[in-house]
Amino acid sequence: MAVIYELIKECKQSGARLGRVHTPHGIIETPTFMPVGTQATVKTMSPEELKNMDAQIILSNTYHLFLRPGHDIVKRAGGLHKFMNWDRPILTDSGGFQVFSLSEMRKITEEGVQFRSHLNGDKLFLSPEKAMEIQNALGSDIMMAFDECPPYPAEYDYVKKSLERTTRWAERCLNSHARPHDQALFAIVQGGMHKDLRIQSATDLTSMDFPGYAIGGLSVGEPKHLMYDVLDHTVPILPANKPRYLMGVGSPDALIEGSIRGIDMFDCVLPTRIARNGTTMTSQGRLVIRNAKFTDDFGPLDPECSCYTCQNYSRAYIRHLLKADETFGIRLTTYHNLHFLLELMRNVRQAIMEDRLLDFRDSFFTSYGLHDNDKGF
Ligand SMILES: [Zn+2]
Repeated sequence: MAVIYELIKECKQSGARLGRVHTPHGIIETPTFMPVGTQATVKTMSPEELKNMDAQIILSNTYHLFLRPGHDIVKRAGGLHKFMNWDRPILTDSGGFQVFSLSEMRKITEEGVQFRSHLNGDKLFLSPEKAMEIQNALGSDIMMAFDECPPYPAEYDYVKKSLERTTRWAERCLNSHARPHDQALFAIVQGGMHKDLRIQSATDLTSMDFPGYAIGGLSVGEPKHLMYDVLDHTVPILPANKPRYLMGVGSPDALIEGSIRGIDMFDCVLPTRIARNGTTMTSQGRLVIRNAKFTDDFGPLDPECSCYTCQNYSRAYIRHLLKADETFGIRLTTYHNLHFLLELMRNVRQAIMEDRLLDFRDSFFTSYGLHDNDKGF
């Protein structure tokens, strides 16, 4: 099997698990956060910088690489690792989420999804088999089954029909996957916010014995307590000896709450996206560095942060760069935000090791300025 999960220990206080995911391109220590490299690059960061902040795995998007430059080009370059000069693990999504969120004129049938490219309007088709062909060409360590992510809110009957089709698509993915020896295919549990549908999806998919399982269709606009409810009744159905991945979640509170509920892997564009707007995550909460009050603040973004940005540059300088539209400013905020979440996950892993993740959550929430409402309790 291409990917093997090794459980190191469970936190006696919270039930969270500390583990390792072994892949063909190295080991991922979990729980982990995966920076998103949509177009085969984590926006503004070089692979060397990602290594310096100790990113263990990154995610890239099948939909975008299928449209441009085309998976055939990436394959001829020697695969995605070689194409982008990243020799650590890569996870690729299935393209499903982008087809449903970005493209126009979608038509879903049992066979697949017909859509128009958001770049040039070309008529294109994605199916479970095509999503496997593309990801096999990209050569990611972990690839995702083609799924439909229903919007929130959605009618019960639609969500049920959709998840049953996603399960049939998952089986077709399994059957057409050409490289199971060196690429691990994860299935995606759907079912909206409905407990019985989540249980149905998780039960049907786990009977097919995938090397890992993702929980999709969350963080799509629902209140956080609903997301945590779904995790509470979905995670226990997933096999303990396989990695569990919560898709599209990357706010600090949700990373901690997800870890407490037994999630091993997370990804989100949040840290890189807000960095480009000049918003940073710090040990004292969110900080909008464009604000006028930082004009002559010569301290670091976050006094408690050990990252390259905070060791070398001031709030006043970063604010100046952003106001002047200098790309270096975006690089500095991006570096800091990614480092902040990677460091948060290092602290989460340490807290699991020492059986004190609930205590860590409470002290983090207090200093970050989160209240009970945000926690979803
Ligand atoms: Zn920093």
